[in-house]
Amino acid sequence: MTDSSSFKQNVDSIVGDAEFRLMMAARYDFFMMVIKNSACRYSNFELEKSRAYNIRNKAFRNFDNLLVDFETNCLNNGVVVKWARDAEEAKQMVYEIVSGEKAKNVIKTKNNVAEEIGLLSYLEMKKVNVTETDSGDFVCSSENERPSDPQHSAAHLPYKEISRRFTEKYGVKENLKPKQLMTVVRKVLKDKYLTADIAITGANFIVSDTGSVVFSEDEGNVLKSISSSKKQIVLTGIDKLVASLDDLPTLLPLSSVFEVSKNRVSANYTIINKPDFLVLVDNGRSDVLRKDFQRRILTCIECGACNNICPIFNTIGGHVYEMAVPGPVGTVIKPIVEGFENESHFATLCTSCHQCDDYCPMNIKISDLILRNRMDVAKENDSLVDEKNVYNFMKKRVENRKNMDNNNFFNTLQYKQLMKKKWGIRRVIPSFAEKTFSQLWKEANGITEK
Ligand code: SF4
Repeated sequence: MTDSSSFKQNVDSIVGDAEFRLMMAARYDFFMMVIKNSACRYSNFELEKSRAYNIRNKAFRNFDNLLVDFETNCLNNGVVVKWARDAEEAKQMVYEIVSGEKAKNVIKTKNNVAEEIGLLSYLEMKKVNVTETDSGDFVCSSENERPSDPQHSAAHLPYKEISRRFTEKYGVKENLKPKQLMTVVRKVLKDKYLTADIAITGANFIVSDTGSVVFSEDEGNVLKSISSSKKQIVLTGIDKLVASLDDLPTLLPLSSVFEVSKNRVSANYTIINKPDFLVLVDNGRSDVLRKDFQRRILTCIECGACNNICPIFNTIGGHVYEMAVPGPVGTVIKPIVEGFENESHFATLCTSCHQCDDYCPMNIKISDLILRNRMDVAKENDSLVDEKNVYNFMKKRVENRKNMDNNNFFNTLQYKQLMKKKWGIRRVIPSFAEKTFSQLWKEANGITEK
């Protein structure tokens, strides 16, 4: 849970960090270049987006039956299936498996659910040694840091900072280039793969009609982890469910359509039918499913496009959100799962620019869902009474043309007083124009005042 005032403080300090802003701006420019070259691979991208959205939506309409079918097929495949209602249960289940298998060396691949439930710190507390095999997560774990982006965990770190960490931790030369840094990662991980007792992975999709688990990745660490470890735990959310293997040819290429690598597509797709253990996590997903309108956010395939395009995310970065899936998607989910009373500030994190709607490969109108959250916040959050009164007062004022035409000294002063707190210390509050719209209109049309 994030406290609204500490959230504001964190935002305030990050927007004042000029170096960070420059880095995020460069990241945005790079992503825009990627976008230009990506969607054109489809002869009709809009049609493909609608197709994908319908596939996922259809699965949600028959969700309960498909989930039961999925479990039955997994059990028939010989998988041990566990259902976790919340984060606490999920962590305990994973720990019980790890301790039951007497695992000493545990490796882990990128997994947003693990991040969401705080698995790593829990296992650390239980003295289980876990090694991250995703290169971004590997870098973040060197200083026990949360990944800043679900796709590119270490996107917030300049290479020189990563190099500094590696020099400090592994004694390698200073100022290594990206390729050299990757060589260090591979060297460190080599032994870990060879001696791994258990691999904990996530899943991109779980498939009802076959009980399969599907992975899409670039680095090859997922395939390597599941093939080299003695046992495997798949820890995933129930929202990853699709009805059939036939859905994958549409969904998988879309999940990497804005892939930043030169391939413009993920390097490896892996489908397995028999992980040893499967932990299926709800942790608030049913609450989102119960929301008739906002439930469509669960069709998200975590491609990361909305983060890369969002002006809010590109200003404050991922850490400030304090959640596994920051950015527009998390902005929709968090207040629903954790309550509008405490998380209402999340409903404000949108300028309604609609850019995420345009680029979402699953055709989710994310900004509409954030807007709906705002309506729910206004309905359900009693602490907003003051704000409601201010807006009612403002509404009454602007409805009267005479008030609007009166941009005198007192009006400006009143407006500045009203905005002072919200506007922040780094921006100058704009002043009223010298002449009102009515005056300009009359002048332009040669109308003289009577
Ligand atoms: S509509 Fe809102 S959430 Fe979407 S990109 Fe714009 S600011 Fe971000």
